[in-house]
Amino acid sequence: MAGVALVTGGTRGIGAAIAVALQEAGYKVAATYGGNDTAANAFNEQTGISVHKWDVGDFEACKAGIAQVEADLGPVEVLVNNAGITRDGFLHRMTPESWRAVMATNLDSLFNMTRNVIEGMRGRGYGRVISISSINGQKGQMGQANYSAAKAGLIGFTKAVAQENAFKGITVNAIAPGYIGTEMVRAVPEEILNTKIIPLIPVGRLGEPEEIAKCVLFLAGDDAGFITGSTLTANGGQYMA
Ligand code: NDP
Repeated sequence: MAGVALVTGGTRGIGAAIAVALQEAGYKVAATYGGNDTAANAFNEQTGISVHKWDVGDFEACKAGIAQVEADLGPVEVLVNNAGITRDGFLHRMTPESWRAVMATNLDSLFNMTRNVIEGMRGRGYGRVISISSINGQKGQMGQANYSAAKAGLIGFTKAVAQENAFKGITVNAIAPGYIGTEMVRAVPEEILNTKIIPLIPVGRLGEPEEIAKCVLFLAGDDAGFITGSTLTANGGQYMA
């Protein structure tokens, strides 16, 4: 029986697909979210996966939330740092608030979450930390200086923490998705999708959230024990880092 998996931003989009895939693989799953109670409650009713509201940008909230999840379900064996937001705009117009919000949710969250599970993982001699980066953290994207910086920072964090914990049976990896057909991307007008976005993707289509979930499942499993500090690119060939 697999252990406990904690997925941040696990109630919608890619995170929801990851949470469901881990549940189907036998993990006891907890999913966190930031504020959309309606979506979280619907997800809980649909899947039976427990949902927990706290801000991943807040260290003390992460500490308390993780303690509660561990009291309810047991020690976290797999942490998936998935929660993320965008606040796009060219740098010359970007506000400090947009910069800070993206850094807090997409990068501070890695410290806030991983710091609060890593000692337990080290003590038990086993763990998996998997963080969701982005193609735009690898190649940069105009209008996303904040997001690109945070998602590139995630990859540096992954490499450092992987080195620190490799000898303790803990692997730390990143996944860099390209365009995935979540609600947000599907809301882009079909004409723009067909003329401006899909033509850039050599496989000729958007990715599916379930395809990212399968990457997570692989990295979470025992078969991936020799893979650490890596970034698994899943972007249909759009950018080859
Ligand atoms: P969604 O917007 O569909 O879902 C985001 C999830 O994160 C929600 O559950 C949301 O909670 C939660 N969340 C947001 N802010 C916070 C916060 N401060 N504290 C706790 N939880 C929070 O995102 P996607 O599924 O599109 O993206 C998931 C990840 O994949 C992100 O890191 C994103 O950057 C990355 N990614 C996405 C791509 C795509 O094409 N969609 C491409 C490449 C990377 P709530 O429901 O309460 O808002």
